[in-house]
Amino acid sequence: MSEGTPMAGAEIEDAYREAAPLVHTLALRALGSVDEAEDVVRRVFAAAAASGDLAPQSLLRDAAERVTGDLERRVRAKLSALDDPRLGADAVTDHDAVVAEADRILLRSAMSRLDEQRRTLLERALVHGDPRPELAMMTGVSTEDLEAMLRDALLELWTGPRMRGEHAPAADLASRALGNSAAPPHSDHLGRCRECRDVSRSLNDLVGAIARMPSAGPVLPPRGGCGTRCARRWQPARSPSRTGVRRHAAPPSGPSAVAPSSSSVPW
Ligand SMILES: [Zn+2]
Repeated sequence: MSEGTPMAGAEIEDAYREAAPLVHTLALRALGSVDEAEDVVRRVFAAAAASGDLAPQSLLRDAAERVTGDLERRVRAKLSALDDPRLGADAVTDHDAVVAEADRILLRSAMSRLDEQRRTLLERALVHGDPRPELAMMTGVSTEDLEAMLRDALLELWTGPRMRGEHAPAADLASRALGNSAAPPHSDHLGRCRECRDVSRSLNDLVGAIARMPSAGPVLPPRGGCGTRCARRWQPARSPSRTGVRRHAAPPSGPSAVAPSSSSVPW
């Protein structure tokens, strides 16, 4: 898909299935209101349908912006109710915290898609700090192979650019970030290539983010009806006889519908 092209419904539905629970979880944590969280989900997907950028990272970033905007408006409204203009000049909101939470939600989601062995090895190596030789023995492979598995798992999570040509291979930079024993240093190239230093920094940050990752919190999908209302916004002319939208027109409502189960995602 190319950015800037309006998307077909199926692509948006795929993106919704994958990312709406993440957007919803972020908005619900920050705003504390199911209605407001679902409103954020609708706005994020309506904007994404128009822009054509459906990458989960983009959707979560947009959600973080909207959540912060909503928090800011909320604070301003409260301050203006106090009727003191000095207080409203510099509303306190926590944009960085919302963006950091968006990154954690994305990372947890990406971790949950790793196969179980890779996820377990990454968690034991980075979160619990288990020694590599011990992990290798447990897995039944050499330490070298274990480090290669960790490197591949890290690269699977990493969304940065894969540079070619004379640049240092991402696999080598991932090995460096993990502190693998046989990581090729590429010191000369890193010394003169800013792009590779950026890649290296981003991989280091990812290792740090995994190491600091709190135990998995629940992902809370929006209620079933939210998808139907979202679909109306991104496809106002869609025929009601098509399947896929109306099929979920009568979702359960109330707190029981906000279950951390993929079966409650509306597509
Ligand atoms: Zn380079």
